[in-house]
Amino acid sequence: MAKMRVVQVGRPKGPLELAEREIPAPGPGSVRIKVEACGICHSDSLTKEGLWPGIQYPRVPGHEVAGIIDAVGENVGAWRVRQRVGVGWHGGHCGYCDSCRRGDFVTCQIAPQITGVSYDGGYADYMIAPATVLALIPEGLSAVDAAPLMCAGITTFNALRNSGARPGDTVAVLGVGGLGHLGVQFAAKMGFRTVAIARGKDKEGLARKLGAWQYIDSQAQDAAGELAKLGGARVILATVTSGKAMSAVLGGLGINGKLIVVGAAMDPLEVPALALIGGRRSIQGWPSGISADSEDTLSFSARAGVRAMTEVFPLERAAEGYEHMMSGQARFRAVLTTAR
Ligand SMILES: [Zn+2]
Ligand SMILES: [Zn+2]
Repeated sequence: MAKMRVVQVGRPKGPLELAEREIPAPGPGSVRIKVEACGICHSDSLTKEGLWPGIQYPRVPGHEVAGIIDAVGENVGAWRVRQRVGVGWHGGHCGYCDSCRRGDFVTCQIAPQITGVSYDGGYADYMIAPATVLALIPEGLSAVDAAPLMCAGITTFNALRNSGARPGDTVAVLGVGGLGHLGVQFAAKMGFRTVAIARGKDKEGLARKLGAWQYIDSQAQDAAGELAKLGGARVILATVTSGKAMSAVLGGLGINGKLIVVGAAMDPLEVPALALIGGRRSIQGWPSGISADSEDTLSFSARAGVRAMTEVFPLERAAEGYEHMMSGQARFRAVLTTAR
C-alpha cells in the first residue's frame, strides 16, 4: 500500500506532528485530491486547540486546499482526474435541513461539514473531499496563489459582493492583514472608493499599492471622524479580531451604512443604538460561502490580478508555519506546499 505524509493533531492542544498513513481511496460521491498547497488559517486553531465541539482525533487540519483530482469515486458528476480544484471551509451539508432545502448550504443546521474539522483536511499529500464542495482552479492561478483564496479570499470577496455597495460607493476595509490585504484588493477591483484602515503609518504604502484610494492610520487619527469627512462609508468590512476596534469605526458609517464582520473577535462590540436608528445603519456577520462562491473568487482573482501575499513552508515544517501565522508575523498568509 502506498503511503503519504500527513500533519495531524493527536489530541486537543497537542502538537502538529508529521505522520505516515496509507493513501485513502475515495468513496461514492468523493474524490481524492493530490494536495499541492494548503493555506494556514487562524481557524485551524479550532482543530489544533480542540475548540470545536465533537472533533475526533487524530485530525488533519487545513481548509485552504489547492490540488489536483487524482482519483474519483462513483457518482461525482462531471469531475474527473487531473482537474485542478480547491476545497475551502464549507466542506459539505446535509441537503435536508430547513437551510439546505432553501439552497442556503453554508448555514446547514443538521450536519454541516467543515474541512479539516469534521474530516481530514489539506495538511497532507492527499485528502478525500465530497465532490459537492470542489471549486475549479482556473489557469493562471498557481496552487500557492489559489490556496489562501479558498478561505481568506472567498470570505472577503463574498462579503463585499453581497454587501449592497455599488461601484463608486465608499467601502472601508478595517485591518490590512491576512483577510484585509485581500479585502482591499477586491474592493478596489470591484470599483469601490476603497479606504484602508490600519494601525500605524507603516502599512500605508502597501495599502495604496493594493488599490486603496485613502488610508487612515487609526493610531494617529480618529478613523470614524475621517470616514465621516469622506461622506461616510456605505460598507465597512471589519477584518480585525478586536470588537473594540470595530466599535470605534461605527461612527464612520454613512446613511444606510453597514458594518460587515468577518474577523472572529472574541470581545463584544459596543453599539450606540441611536446611531443605528437614525441613519438606518446595520451590523451584519458574514461566513465564507459555498464551492460556487469559491470558484467565482478564484476566477475573479485570476482575471483581476488579485493575489494573496504568501510565505511558503514545506509540509513537514507545518508546525513552524502555524506558529508563524498565529503569532501574527506572517506577511500575510502562510501556505504549506507538498512539493519535494
Ligand atoms: Zn479559514
Ligand atoms: Zn443542511
